[in-house]
Amino acid sequence: MELFDTRTRTTAPLRAPRTVRLYVCGITPYDATHLGHAFLYTHMDVLVRWLTARGHRVRHVRNVTDVDDDIIRVARERGVDYRELAATEIARFDEDLAALGCWAPDVAPRATATVPAILTAVRGLVDAGAAYALDDGRVYFDVQRAERFGALSRLDRDAMLPQFAEKGGDPEAPGKRDALDFLLWQPSAPDEPAWDSAWGPGRPGWHIECSTMAMEELGPTIDLHGGGSDLTFPHHEAEIVQAEELTGQRPFARSWLHCAMVCGEDGEKMAKSRGNLAFVADLRTHTESAALRLLILQHHYRQGWCYQATQLPTASEQLKRWRAAAERGDQEAPGAREEVHAALDADLDTPRALAVLDAAADAGAGATVRWGAGLLGVRLEPASA
Ligand SMILES: [Zn+2]
Repeated sequence: MELFDTRTRTTAPLRAPRTVRLYVCGITPYDATHLGHAFLYTHMDVLVRWLTARGHRVRHVRNVTDVDDDIIRVARERGVDYRELAATEIARFDEDLAALGCWAPDVAPRATATVPAILTAVRGLVDAGAAYALDDGRVYFDVQRAERFGALSRLDRDAMLPQFAEKGGDPEAPGKRDALDFLLWQPSAPDEPAWDSAWGPGRPGWHIECSTMAMEELGPTIDLHGGGSDLTFPHHEAEIVQAEELTGQRPFARSWLHCAMVCGEDGEKMAKSRGNLAFVADLRTHTESAALRLLILQHHYRQGWCYQATQLPTASEQLKRWRAAAERGDQEAPGAREEVHAALDADLDTPRALAVLDAAADAGAGATVRWGAGLLGVRLEPASA
């Protein structure tokens, strides 16, 4: 199969062994799952299903960033322990994804459970001269050390700086050697979660968590790294330079897969601050999860789109047509399976695959529709709850 690789900006045959090592950046559990999350993880699920159907074994790792400024802030606002908040939101997320028909990953490592390995990684980077510690307990990666920083996003320094600031990189923080140096370790305030370290009580930076969890579970080189396109810079850029500085092995990830953003009904990127989030749990109260999955798969994973409530009845209608065809009989649409295969092989073209199955449904080819729905993880039997 061919996949688009963000690093090379080309669509190329997937070069992967029989067992594909896949790492996908997971959630920060402080709020409910919205359609943007569902879009990313459902497409990653289709990828896993398709690779499996093609005879690969996929080792799918999706982390949980369960310690983070946002979690700490929301836990404080709600008056609960941050671990309790994370546990609640992880359970809601798992329930939403299961309802959408997504397979659970093989492993879902948590940042808080990986701190000893993260500390070893930070120590390794400091010892290698790729990172430096300040007296107040902050440890930064030294981006001057890594000329490849920017190779994934292809942003120049002028373009990096505003994005870095917007995404919490704090370019003006005192003591940094370079404005783009990013945190590996930071001191915690007395009421914040903290782990003992050589640099005092603190907690890890987000980027080093992902590099460490990926390498702990999958080794120094992974086949596919996925995530939302908003993570390309600086998060994935940072993951690459940290991992490669630590292991001396390149590339950290053979191929990078980025899922486009979903915007809200106002046409803006879904964000809590804009109040335009469409939560999966809310949508599920009036629309079948299988219809939501169809709505997601109607859009190619690299194509951004805007959610509109009017799209839901259309998706429900599509599900009804598939269901009716599936119940009607055992007819096959000639050539349809090959066409679906070809569509998925072509950079996971789910809209094309759906169009083939729509035509099969219209033609009353029940066997084809049942097969296609099974392949894509669309549940045709009515949900019991
Ligand atoms: Zn990540």
